[in-house]
Amino acid sequence: MEKSLVRPSFVTNFNCIGSECEDSCCYGWNIYVDKQSYKKTMAHPELKDLAKTALKKVKKGDSSWAKAVLGEKGACGFLDNNQLCQIHAKAGESLLSHTCKTYPRMSHMKDGDRYESLSLSCPEAARKILLQPNAFHFERMAVTHNNQFEATPLWAQKAHDCSIQLLLNSQLEISHTLTAIGILMKTVEAVKQLKQNSSSIDAMFQQLVALADSGELKQQVESFNQDTDLQKKHAFTSLHLWLNTNKPVRGRLRFEQINQAVSRIVDEEGNFSVKQLDNAWQQHAQPALEKHADLFNRYLFYYLYHTNFPLVDKLSPTEAFRVMMVDYFMLRCYLAAIAADKQALTEHDIIMCFQVYHTSRQHKANFSKYVVVLLNKCGFDELPAILTLMA
Ligand code: SF4
Repeated sequence: MEKSLVRPSFVTNFNCIGSECEDSCCYGWNIYVDKQSYKKTMAHPELKDLAKTALKKVKKGDSSWAKAVLGEKGACGFLDNNQLCQIHAKAGESLLSHTCKTYPRMSHMKDGDRYESLSLSCPEAARKILLQPNAFHFERMAVTHNNQFEATPLWAQKAHDCSIQLLLNSQLEISHTLTAIGILMKTVEAVKQLKQNSSSIDAMFQQLVALADSGELKQQVESFNQDTDLQKKHAFTSLHLWLNTNKPVRGRLRFEQINQAVSRIVDEEGNFSVKQLDNAWQQHAQPALEKHADLFNRYLFYYLYHTNFPLVDKLSPTEAFRVMMVDYFMLRCYLAAIAADKQALTEHDIIMCFQVYHTSRQHKANFSKYVVVLLNKCGFDELPAILTLMA
C-alpha cells in the first residue's frame, strides 16, 4: 500500500549539538537499554568496564533490560568529561538505546501516513521550530507499508484542516485566530456527539472567515470583557506549583530562573498579581518580542501539527482547545515574568522558557487531564471565560 511520510524542514535541519547543548538530554532521564544492546555493550572491549557501573540490570522486559545509572548531578554514566557519549564515540549509533537513538525525533500516524516532528523539550529543536526561517516547509515522500490503521473521523480531519487554515490567515491577529478556533471547536464537538452533521463544520468555518473579513470577529473579541483575574491567578498559581512538584532533574536549574522571575512579580502587598503579569507583558515582553512577532504563530502552528489537534490525549475537541489555551497562557506568563525581571528578553530566554516548560509538562503523565479538571474548578468552562486567558 503506498502511503506518505511528511517531514517539515525543522526536522530535516535538526542536528544534535551534543556537548554544546545548554540542557542535555543525557541528564536526569530514565534511559532504558534493550537486552541485545545491553549484552553487546557488556561485551564491547572499550565499554565493558564502564558499563559495569553505568548500567544496572532491571529486567523489566526485553526492551527495558537495563537502565542507565545517573551520577550525582543526574548525568548518564556514559558521558565523558567533555559531555560526549562514550557509547556513541566508541561503538557508534547502533549500540545506543532506542530513546538515545531517536530523541528528540517523534512522529504520529494518521490514516497510514507518518508525520515527523521534534520534541520542544530539546533546546536545539526549540530553536529550529521557533526561530529558524522556513522551519515549516514540508516535504512529502512516498513510502510503502501494509500496516493496519484506523481512519481519522471526518470531524477530526475537518477540525484540524480548518484550524490550520485559520492560523494561516494573515488577516487575523492571534487573539482572533484563537477565538475563531474556540468557536469552531464548539461546532466540532456537536458534530462529534452526532448532534449536527459534519457539513456544519464547513459552514461554521466559512462563517468565521466572513466574520474575520468584515471585522466583526474583532468586535466580538473586544466585547469579551469578563473579569477573570481571580480565576487566572488561581489557575496560574496551581499550575506553576504543580509543575514545580517532582520536577525532572533535567531542566531543574533552568526552571529556577523562571521561578525567581515569577517570585519578583508581586503587587504592593507582596502577593502575586495577574495585573502585574499583564503589565509586565505589555511593558517588557511585547517590546522585546517585536523582533519575533511571529513567535506564537509558529508555536501554535507547531502545536496543531505536532499534536494532531484536536485529537489530543483522548480529550474532547473543546477540552483540547482549553489545554492549548493554558499552554499559551503559561508561556506568556513565564515570558512576561522573565522580561520584567531582566528588563529584556533574549533569544536564549525565549528558548529556555519554551523548552523548560515543555520538559516539565512532558514529565507530567496526566497533564491534560489535570488542566481540564483545574479549569472547571476555576470557572473556565465557557468560551468567553477561557478566551480571557489570552489577554
Ligand atoms: S537535548 Fe537535543 S541538542 Fe541537547 S543533547 Fe539532547 S538531542 Fe542533543
